[in-house]
Amino acid sequence: MCCWDRGCAAGVISTLVHELSIACDLVEAVAEAAQRAGARRVTKVHLKLGVLSGVEADALLFCYDIAAQGTLLEGSQLEVVMMPVVILCPHCGVPRELPSIQDFRCPVCGTPSHQLQQGREIEIDGIEIESEDEPTDVIHANGRQEKP
Ligand SMILES: [Zn+2]
Repeated sequence: MCCWDRGCAAGVISTLVHELSIACDLVEAVAEAAQRAGARRVTKVHLKLGVLSGVEADALLFCYDIAAQGTLLEGSQLEVVMMPVVILCPHCGVPRELPSIQDFRCPVCGTPSHQLQQGREIEIDGIEIESEDEPTDVIHANGRQEKP
């Protein structure tokens, strides 16, 4: 939180408010799914975060712990997987992963494209829970449950 020293606390706070509201939505959605699955508590949440989602992973992790307090998610771990930007190249006709978000051009042929295929998502990829009768359960985003 080096920003405090540089007198731009307002920027830090507005960033945190943004991430806190996302963290609250996330915790709420996961708690609901966990409850439906009969969870005693949630141990881990896997989240896909697009690099263009506007969410800072560090700030989100910080807010997650706050938002999780007093819920089934308290003490659980949030694992964030950053998703790179993928555009659809109109020339090649296939999705291409961008090495940098500074340049929206196909890395193969150089054609500019703004047809975003991936990179803005804030998506729960799966959650791990402890239920009354079973020690651990994994719930996937598609609703499938499996034993580890
Ligand atoms: Zn191309």
